[in-house]
Amino acid sequence: MKISEIFEQNKTVFSFEVFPPKKTSSIDSIYSKLGALSECKPDFISVTYGAGGGGASVLTADICKAIQEQYNIPAMMHLTCVNSSKESVEEVLKLIEEYKIENILALRGDIVPDLPRQTDFMHANELVTYIKERGDFHVSGACYPEGHPESDNMVDDILNLKRKVEAGAEHLVSQLFFDNNMFYEFQEKARLAGINVPIEAGIMPVVNKAQIERMVTTCGASLPAKFVKMMNRFEHSPEALRDAGIAYAIDQVVDLMSQGVDGVHLYTMNQPEVAKKISDAVASLRCCQ
Ligand code: FAD
Repeated sequence: MKISEIFEQNKTVFSFEVFPPKKTSSIDSIYSKLGALSECKPDFISVTYGAGGGGASVLTADICKAIQEQYNIPAMMHLTCVNSSKESVEEVLKLIEEYKIENILALRGDIVPDLPRQTDFMHANELVTYIKERGDFHVSGACYPEGHPESDNMVDDILNLKRKVEAGAEHLVSQLFFDNNMFYEFQEKARLAGINVPIEAGIMPVVNKAQIERMVTTCGASLPAKFVKMMNRFEHSPEALRDAGIAYAIDQVVDLMSQGVDGVHLYTMNQPEVAKKISDAVASLRCCQ
């Protein structure tokens, strides 16, 4: 099923993100988690993509195939282009078609100095155009409530986002944030700019200290005082920190759903127990639109 069809139903879309196991872990480690995640009945599950392409794309596609065939849940495959030629993207698209994956999150990917930069696709909008010309796929794009780290200002970032939508992105998934007001302000600006596709809010439950430290350095999301207090208060008690992180995420999701957001995309971090607690807490809210 195409994600655009899910948004046509009268409800708040609730979706998950998972990532392929690291090279040091067995592939079975993700398959054992998909079963537990599927019990939460997400509207779709997206699978991240290693920036280097190659074998990573096959792994991502294999997981998407399993999500669709074993659990009957639509999958969205992430696809980056920063290190890819048109030919290599074409190879991946053939595999996606063969696997009957209909939904692609078209991304530029982070620029990694150690990997050779390809120039066939300079930005995600060019990948969106290419995929839409190439086949009958539903294409989504990423958006940044606090602005993309490379952008000088929010105006330019939203104008660039509009190019992505005009190129054919039919749905946007946001970067994680901890302050819902950031998301509401961004959403309003996007609508004023004429971006009218559904925007899903990306929520990451923070359940351990290492995770928060990693996130602050990589995505630059601002941390509200309430969140910082919670982290400081419980940093020495893993169990309390985990419970507090889940409660914080539930609070964010309840507020987002009360405000009538198009959808919530939960970064599950491959932790079904955490996803289940959040999913159970908001289950009755999902169909109350
Ligand atoms: P773009 O939309 O190309 O934007 C990148 C920057 O360029 C922005 O500053 C933008 O304002 C600017 N820009 C965009 N278009 C133009 C243009 N036409 N001309 C000039 N400037 C322009 N990374 C992975 O490696 N694998 C993943 O699976 C993955 N999944 C993600 C999922 C989500 C929901 C999000 C939010 C991010 C994900 N990322 C992933 C990270 C993402 O690849 C990085 O944030 C990357 O730096 C930007 O990708 P993008 O598609 O948003 O790029």
